[in-house]
Amino acid sequence: MRSAFGVRIIDGAVRKPVVISTWRHGIPANEAAWKILSAGGKAFDAVEAGVRVPEADPEVTSVGYGGYPDRDGHVTLDACIMDDKYNCGSVAYLEHIMHPISVARKVMENTPHVMLAGEGALRFALDNGFKKENLLTESSKKAWQEWLKKSEYKPVINWENHDTIGMIALDENGNLSGACTTSGMAFKLNGRIGDSPIIGAGLYVDNEVGGATATGVGEEVIRICGSHLVVELMRQNYTPQQACEEAVKRIVRRRGEDVAKKIQIGFIALNKKGEYGSYCIHPDFQYAVYSKPEGSKLIDSKSYY
Ligand code: ASP
Repeated sequence: MRSAFGVRIIDGAVRKPVVISTWRHGIPANEAAWKILSAGGKAFDAVEAGVRVPEADPEVTSVGYGGYPDRDGHVTLDACIMDDKYNCGSVAYLEHIMHPISVARKVMENTPHVMLAGEGALRFALDNGFKKENLLTESSKKAWQEWLKKSEYKPVINWENHDTIGMIALDENGNLSGACTTSGMAFKLNGRIGDSPIIGAGLYVDNEVGGATATGVGEEVIRICGSHLVVELMRQNYTPQQACEEAVKRIVRRRGEDVAKKIQIGFIALNKKGEYGSYCIHPDFQYAVYSKPEGSKLIDSKSYY
């Protein structure tokens, strides 16, 4: 069956609600999202509530409060959110605010813009009632000071120093939304912005097709408009699994094995039918799923290597 736009409408049994998110910290995040989804709430509210959990967790050193700082000691946060009607909001290089995802939502709802960055984003957050806080915890400060000893002033790109949370949810009404939030690559150059706040790169949702989100080296994800690519592949009837695989393989093909061997990138995707999948370059990327009747689970993503 085809819609007015020539887009395939997926028929058959739809598994809903369902929520997926990146990494192990996706488990408690999904639980928060599930509370909303299982009560018949909107995917959009669920993804915001979900990713706020790791944002506030000082133990998660790659998102929000407790996130590792840049090479100059600043915790700078990137986040974006997208609903089922192509509305989206984003913040980049935002300092001092524990919940950048909620600021991104406010950008979407209260301004004519999609993206605010830096000082302006902070001012906007404060004007909208967010509290200015110190996000650099003692232990993240220690890790930074340790890093400073070698002081290479060259962010190391690997899969140990960055773990964004990206989340996609499908609600009871069959609508999709997504959220993505991160402190980005640890000890990055000051001013660096990754893929996570960029609609189409770190996150994309098309309510006719599905949603996708990315983690890993943002520069490589930006180069292929990664999440948008995954969604467009699903539009062409790729399963979420196949779409994630093709996006990762495209990066490997274009950048070559020499680059691919040194970096981690993972995509997760969920389609309108409630089917999900994931693929990454190296093993050790997991994603969390909450669905009915299975409940909560953590899945080891398939990998290129
Ligand atoms: N994609 C994020 C960034 O490049 C980091 C990560 O997910 O690991 O900022």
